[in-house]
Amino acid sequence: MQTLRAQRPLVLASLLVVAGATWRLAPAARVQAQGPVVRHRMTRLTNTIYRADNPGTAGLNSTSWVFVNDDDVLVTDSEGSLDAARSLLAGIATITDKPVRYLVDTHFHIDHAYGNAALPSTVQIIGSDFTHRMLVSTEAREGVTFKNFGVDPYPARLDNIRKQLAAETDPGRKQALEQQLAQQTASYEFYRSDFPLKAPNLSVKEEMSIWSGAKEFRIMYLGRAHTAGDVVVYVPSEKVVANGDILFKATVGWQGDAFPNEHPDTIEALRKIDAELLLPGHGDPIQGRGEIDRVIGNMQNYLREEWRQVSAAKQAGLTPEDALAKADFTRFRDFYGNGATPSLAAVRRIYNIIDNKVIR
Ligand SMILES: [Zn+2]
Repeated sequence: MQTLRAQRPLVLASLLVVAGATWRLAPAARVQAQGPVVRHRMTRLTNTIYRADNPGTAGLNSTSWVFVNDDDVLVTDSEGSLDAARSLLAGIATITDKPVRYLVDTHFHIDHAYGNAALPSTVQIIGSDFTHRMLVSTEAREGVTFKNFGVDPYPARLDNIRKQLAAETDPGRKQALEQQLAQQTASYEFYRSDFPLKAPNLSVKEEMSIWSGAKEFRIMYLGRAHTAGDVVVYVPSEKVVANGDILFKATVGWQGDAFPNEHPDTIEALRKIDAELLLPGHGDPIQGRGEIDRVIGNMQNYLREEWRQVSAAKQAGLTPEDALAKADFTRFRDFYGNGATPSLAAVRRIYNIIDNKVIR
């Protein structure tokens, strides 16, 4: 208490100094100094839908889908950090003057929901009950997904950049590596800090519609899949579904929080939605009924085969490591390339589901 009171005049004093310094800047420089950098690439997909990608931050960027309505904007997913969310908002401001009114967290993962806290309070954040529960629990900072993407890869990644930097002689490439090192160091520091998280302030149990003028957005929970609480955003008037990470065009995706045993039924429910265009949480859209059915069919076959092989290995007493070594997914190479082989995290996940050691 004492320290707080003693610090207040100091804080005020430094604010005045900052204000004074800002005053002396030319107007253009002031805007530049305050406005966030746009790193997002905004790509127009239809008259009302834009794709927003942020290729800058390794492993922590997702694809957001921006729906520009008559009076406002709805966006899916807020990226992996406050800085990335600010870049997303700045990217949206380059395509429309309309305010972002809704942001839907398709699920709680770091690359989809950890930018929530950067959103202004005028943005309604929508997600499942499970997403809410995860973002307010220790899971958000200690769970397998946060560790796998926000903590574990950094020491080796930084080391690798430093080694490349030491060996590099070309000034241009050296500068690029220095920038990369600074960016990755800043990300690592951010994730190690007590960074703010913000859970959805409107949560969906099964289904909920929100309306922007005459346009309906149906937020639907279709069952457990990539996590226990994925939601999709269905726009019936446009026959479009933003489907988060429950389905990708040509990859299986991270399965550290997945339910491969329930996932096939969930994407069967997705198949039944009257849509012609699916917008995944990473990468390219899935377009047309033929392609939607094919991609869903591939994924269902893969998930059933994965469950079959891994649960059989567990039953036979194999460790997850041995189960992985024995696994054979070569017949899925045509669809998923080298990503056809599950990660060790996916195998462990299946073991944990069978042992009932997962959060539902
Ligand atoms: Zn995810």
